[in-house]
Amino acid sequence: MSTSFDLGDEEAGMKVLEDLTKNVKQMQDNILQDILTCNANTEYLRGFLKGRTDKDLFKKNVPVVNYKDVRPHIERVANGEPCDVISSRPITQFLLSSGTSGGVQKMMPCNDKLSANFAFTNDMRMLVTSREVDGAENGKGMMFFFIKPEIKTPCGLPARAATTSYLKSDHFKNRPSNWYYSYTSPDDVILCPDNKQSLYCHLLCGLVQRDEVVRVGSFYASVVVRAIKFLEDFWTELCSNIRLGQISDWITDLDCKKSVYPILGGPRPELADEIEQICSQKSSWEGILTRLWPKTKYIETIITGSMAQYVPTLKFYSNDDMPLVSTVYGSSETIFGINLDPLCKPEDVSYMLMPNMLHYEFKPMDGNLADDEKIVDLADVKLGCSYEPLITTSSGLYRLRVGDVLNVTGFRNDAPLFRFVRRENVVLSVDMEKTNEEELFNAVNKAKPLLESLGLMLIDFASYAETSAIPGHYVLYWELGGKNKEGKPPIDPKVLEECCFAVEESLGDVYKRCRSKDRSAGALEIRVVLNGAFDSLMDFFVSQGASIGQYKTPRCIKCAKALEVMEKRVVARFFSKKCPSYELRL
Ligand code: AMP
Repeated sequence: MSTSFDLGDEEAGMKVLEDLTKNVKQMQDNILQDILTCNANTEYLRGFLKGRTDKDLFKKNVPVVNYKDVRPHIERVANGEPCDVISSRPITQFLLSSGTSGGVQKMMPCNDKLSANFAFTNDMRMLVTSREVDGAENGKGMMFFFIKPEIKTPCGLPARAATTSYLKSDHFKNRPSNWYYSYTSPDDVILCPDNKQSLYCHLLCGLVQRDEVVRVGSFYASVVVRAIKFLEDFWTELCSNIRLGQISDWITDLDCKKSVYPILGGPRPELADEIEQICSQKSSWEGILTRLWPKTKYIETIITGSMAQYVPTLKFYSNDDMPLVSTVYGSSETIFGINLDPLCKPEDVSYMLMPNMLHYEFKPMDGNLADDEKIVDLADVKLGCSYEPLITTSSGLYRLRVGDVLNVTGFRNDAPLFRFVRRENVVLSVDMEKTNEEELFNAVNKAKPLLESLGLMLIDFASYAETSAIPGHYVLYWELGGKNKEGKPPIDPKVLEECCFAVEESLGDVYKRCRSKDRSAGALEIRVVLNGAFDSLMDFFVSQGASIGQYKTPRCIKCAKALEVMEKRVVARFFSKKCPSYELRL
């Protein structure tokens, strides 16, 4: 069956999609066979299969692995060894994840086939959206796309974020000239390496073309929220630029500036007045998206998983009047799937995993079934059950655990649809960074000696991701006791501020990048709580049915009532006064 179609031919596209949903088992078998045949002689597979390509043997002999298990093989290729350590097909670049594992970014091999998958998935997203949203094709998208710096691996190939790779790809550069790929911002704005200048210019272009904007978006919801917050801080300057037809001097990226001038189109005092009037109208920014960009049909951005916390803010900015369309589920390993029902409610979003791009297996996550014996294929997952996907790709990943938990919510023909449940073991996230329990523990431990120097000790702690203000930040509740019998010595604010900083310094690279470079995470805060606060927290959970015997302090508090228990007992607040050091490294 064909997996390409003419973008102008909707019916042909729908036929391709329909075929994908009807031939799941066959397609998955074919994909696995292709991968095994092609890669049987790689060093990695030879070690388990001795050159054989049989699927049952693959499942029997090739182990289920985590990233840390395959990392040495990937690094060997990145360091210049031939790619047939893991893949017979040439590796063209490495994709850096934002998900942290032990605080280090993951680096995934990528080849031409994977890049083609990105393109195919985008075409499918466009197809599905244009069928569902009326008038989406009658204007442009104000899409907040950004690139991040990339590095060259010792073998000379680039290592970069998956989104950066897509935005720098030939597919993006030579994208078709249709509505889905038509943006208010020129490519030089998207590709500007300075994210602040880029964001300013995105907004300038979007404001000038406000009557043409039919959709607003970004890859992840946190970015749209940040963009609106930025607008709140910069709208007077933006209006002044529009009024005078001049771009602010601090926009120093020449390509970016040169590309925006023609869009600005000289002095536009009337337009500047209109925008100024809207932005200064109300003290609150409720509905600002609707008022500034009145023709917007929908907001296109990922709103599931850790991004779900931004749904209320997006609804607030859009008067709850624009559908939030979460079209894609993917990662640096590969793109996984698309949402076939883009106008559904945020809580109902499910994704169909594309059966033609890679091979999936699923590790059951319900009850005690989490053993490798029970691993099933894509065609065999059961409605209502939760699984962790394991992926095998053409680029050299074999039975790799993705680390996400998905729940089967239904089927389109034979193709299962999955709701994103959670990332395994992530407790805190305010933007692209993900901090797990172990990382949080280690970071808090690093700050303890500072407390001890004051004669204080940490009795208990919990955390939560405060995202009601932008940027979001990490909040730690600390209950402190005196180390000595004499009682609790006074708290020195400077030392507590240092504690905040010590925790931040010990968090992962991606956190530090968000905090120090992207400014998408605010200063970490410690809220000192009254003695006995954690007992009250336990009492609260016990009153809700938790067993005292099995009670564990939740390291991240997600329940509003439990947060209230802690908030009532806060006696002092301290913020980190410095940004943690950040260096892009593998
Ligand atoms: P990264 O490898 O840094 O791109 O992060 C990939 C991870 O981001 C996935 O494994 C998911 O945990 C999360 N993610 C990506 N897309 C979605 C989505 N649509 N909904 C929820 N989480 C997502």
